[in-house]
Amino acid sequence: MNKILIIGGGAAGIMTALTAKNEHNEVIIIEKNKTLGQKLSITGGGRCNITNTNDRDEFFKNIVSNSKFFYKSFHHFSNHDMILFLEEMGIKLSYENERVYPQHQSAQRLVNALVEKLEKQNIRVKLNEKMTDIIIKDKNAVQISTNKVDYYLEKDFTHIVLATGGLSYNKNDSFEILKDKMKISTLYPSLVPITTVTDFSHLSGISLQDVCLRVNLNNKTYKTHGSFLFTNKGVSGSSVMDMSAYIVPFQDKYDKDHPYTQGLEEIISYKGEKIFLDIDFLPSLSTEDLHKILFDSSKKMLKTKLSSYLPLKLSIYLLQIYDNVDVHNLKKAEKMDIINKIKNFKTQVKNYGSIKSAIVTKGGIDVSEISPSNMRLKNIENLYAVGECIDLDALEGGYNLQIAFSTGHLAGSNLALE
Ligand SMILES: Cc1cc2nc3c(=O)[nH]c(=O)nc-3n(C[C@H](O)[C@H](O)[C@H](O)COP(=O)(O)OP(=O)(O)OC[C@H]3O[C@@H](n4cnc5c(N)ncnc54)[C@H](O)[C@@H]3O)c2cc1C
Repeated sequence: MNKILIIGGGAAGIMTALTAKNEHNEVIIIEKNKTLGQKLSITGGGRCNITNTNDRDEFFKNIVSNSKFFYKSFHHFSNHDMILFLEEMGIKLSYENERVYPQHQSAQRLVNALVEKLEKQNIRVKLNEKMTDIIIKDKNAVQISTNKVDYYLEKDFTHIVLATGGLSYNKNDSFEILKDKMKISTLYPSLVPITTVTDFSHLSGISLQDVCLRVNLNNKTYKTHGSFLFTNKGVSGSSVMDMSAYIVPFQDKYDKDHPYTQGLEEIISYKGEKIFLDIDFLPSLSTEDLHKILFDSSKKMLKTKLSSYLPLKLSIYLLQIYDNVDVHNLKKAEKMDIINKIKNFKTQVKNYGSIKSAIVTKGGIDVSEISPSNMRLKNIENLYAVGECIDLDALEGGYNLQIAFSTGHLAGSNLALE
């Protein structure tokens, strides 16, 4: 009989427990919080964007780090398997484009349903209990200590699953416990707002449905599109959050030993160069279209013409000195300058939102440590790792939860067969 201790009762830990439990296996979840699934209960603005309907190729375009490592987990338990799993639990789903939500629109009710399923399967849960140490000997985890008790190999467990998540929203020092036992790749905040050198506070609150962003870094161009929001300190929205997932590791002075206390007020650079965000505020209009709209023969003011497409306050800001000019007197270069400000607005990146407020953590247990076919650590035979504590992350859209569910399901299924 296997005795499986799962450290962490979030999405990944819960899925591991549900799949590992059978008549031969005893499964216990150890969770430091007073309830299970606290982060899951706030996902998707409280509605939980649990997965999406994309096909495999489209799905993998949205995985930012170590997508190849994730192939086997996804093949074993895909987004479509997750949809079936939820339907079999009696959870009706609603679909918004490719995004999938529970029809009742409540992440907390989803957590409650999963907890009920754990209870039905006789999975034990120990709350308010925090892993404080793990001892490895002869390629095996031999002891786990918590703030309450010590657990020993054979007597108390045969296998351990690390499902301790990332650094955001809930102070998490698990990587401190793990770092001298395995390679931990640098931890960065991902899916965070970007602060800018330019002060946009007077535009704060203005939002746009669809903008395109571009950043050139290290001879590569990163592009994202989606919603956009001016904030007190810079910019946000899904286009910006997604961009952060790509560019956050390009920093000269990132203090990798202190991800919680980065100097967020410092202006970052990469290889000594400033980092610029290029914003296309009207990606649906070509330069030619915009030229026709703004510089046609009508007598309307420029800001009036532009404000049919963008909020008036933003239109005035973008036009600046050209606000009140007669378009017929504009030179060709001035017209290009105006178009450039709308379709290629450059703003210098100052820094990123803190890791505490990040949607996910980039980095974690290095994938070279883990076997992708079963999520077992290559050098510690009875230790598995699943979910966000691994160096795997994705863009917004239900991909990160699917990573947690797929890796958890793969580890759990393997444990069920052992
Ligand atoms: C505000 C917000 C909204 C989000 N919305 C979405 C969304 O809509 N769709 C999506 O796909 N993703 C979303 N995400 C990301 C998603 O929540 C995570 O990717 C996912 O929860 C990761 O699951 P996990 O089980 O690996 O980690 P977690 O959910 O973080 O669970 C880890 C658990 O381990 C526990 N733990 C940690 N250390 C210890 C220890 N030493 N001892 C005992 N227990 C420990 C923690 O308390 C925690 O409960 C969102 C994230 C945030 C913060």
